[in-house]
Amino acid sequence: MRVTDPVCGMQIDSTEAAATETFQGRRYYFCSASCRDRFRASPERYIGNEGAVGHSRGCC
Ligand SMILES: [Zn+2]
Repeated sequence: MRVTDPVCGMQIDSTEAAATETFQGRRYYFCSASCRDRFRASPERYIGNEGAVGHSRGCC
């Protein structure tokens, strides 16, 4: 299954995800443990923005 890393926006295969996290009953997949750590630090910052992270974001 193709999934999107909500932190960096990278498309990855769920079977190849380096890290996963379950938040509010949903499972998220990450390309690396550092992306997962960033998600853990402030998950609300990354959810609801799948596919829109990065380019369309003007600022930090
Ligand atoms: Zn990532």
